[in-house]
Amino acid sequence: MQSFTIFAEQALTQAGWQSDVLVSVDTDGRIASVEAQREPSGHTNKAAVLLPSPANLHSHAFQRAMAGLTERRGPDPRDTFWTWRELMYRFLEKLTPEHVEAIAAFVQMEMLEAGYAAVGEFHYLHNQPGGEAYANPAELSLRIIEAAKQTGIGLTLLPVLYQQGGCDGRALQGGQMRFANSINSYTALHETASNVLAELPPDAVMGVAPHSLRAVSREDLAEVITFAPSAPVHMHIAEQTAEVEEVEAAWGRRPVEWLFDNHEVDERWCLIHCTQMQPDETTMLARSHAVAGLCPITESSLGDGIFEGANYLTQAGRFGVGSDSNIRISLAEELRTLEYSQRLRDRSRAVLATPDKSTGRILFESAAQGGAQAAGRNVGAIEPGKLADLVALDAHATNLLGKSGDAILDSFIFAGDDRLVTDVWSAGRHIVHEGRHFAHEAIEHRYRQVITALGEQL
Ligand code: ZN
Repeated sequence: MQSFTIFAEQALTQAGWQSDVLVSVDTDGRIASVEAQREPSGHTNKAAVLLPSPANLHSHAFQRAMAGLTERRGPDPRDTFWTWRELMYRFLEKLTPEHVEAIAAFVQMEMLEAGYAAVGEFHYLHNQPGGEAYANPAELSLRIIEAAKQTGIGLTLLPVLYQQGGCDGRALQGGQMRFANSINSYTALHETASNVLAELPPDAVMGVAPHSLRAVSREDLAEVITFAPSAPVHMHIAEQTAEVEEVEAAWGRRPVEWLFDNHEVDERWCLIHCTQMQPDETTMLARSHAVAGLCPITESSLGDGIFEGANYLTQAGRFGVGSDSNIRISLAEELRTLEYSQRLRDRSRAVLATPDKSTGRILFESAAQGGAQAAGRNVGAIEPGKLADLVALDAHATNLLGKSGDAILDSFIFAGDDRLVTDVWSAGRHIVHEGRHFAHEAIEHRYRQVITALGEQL
């Protein structure tokens, strides 16, 4: 990569909002300097508004292809998950490695165009239909890596250990067999995927993901988190009430309580879906400096519940956002949904705002910092030494006309949408120009072929 500069009319830097900011990026994709009140220099990229780009901290790429197909009810009125689960298992009988790669590339491209420079892929689809391993057991992890090669997104790969059907250790069945690994097969898979991940640019990160307390044995949970002692650990926690009840019945503690009693939960950890927590659990999580991985669009789509946002933030809790089921990829909407869920519950306005920062500013900065921590990337702020994960907005768009400071973020999140995104850089790679990914057409074309083929088979 060649070094380059970006001249921004307004930028959200570590010193707050600044005008006429010249950001220099080195050959290794790192920010070398940030200077305000400057003139544009020679070979300068122009940005109206420049922001640190939040990482999308939780995605299951293949589920993108199910979007819009699971909004009906099944035969049992009490089982509102029926159509979602049915479709997922039918999908799982059909998905080939080529499909997985094409879907992952498409959704990564959408993420980039929405303003996310990086993604944490919580990857749990490992085996062939029926459960047999591929000739290369890491085949589908390699397809995610291949997609990242095509899109240029900053990848944090989180291969998932999924062992059992519940806390009692019952075996996996049916469609779930595609997720299954023993600790030994997982160890081999993780090693192979780590070796291939090294082919990506050096900002790519390898983490571990014990799926959830009910899907991993207690012994193997203790082992898997030692794999890479400084790498991110992601786990689903307390998503639905049934899950909380199952863990409580089996182990006598609620999931968050059990985890904190038995493990050293610290900055490495990202707990996904903290939708079912008691006030003491919210406090424990905030004090641990772990990241709460919130997925407000998916949690709304699945009817999971609402995070204790106000309580958590007043205790300096850290959070980021993820697109999870990928039913809709929109950075602005993900953040808006988080705040609106709080407002609807509390019948209040600007719930997450503080006296000196607006709602949009708190949402955006928190997601940038929490996303960086959860993804294990040295990003999340525009300051020297950080990797250049950056997003530019079009200040001349009608929704941003005449706006400055926090009102820019409030307008982007509450009035605008991803169409305001003009440019995205991931670790200095300039991937989105004028709102469009550099390989948009080829990636979309391939995805359309896959959707057509899958649609005929379902
Ligand atoms: Zn998830």
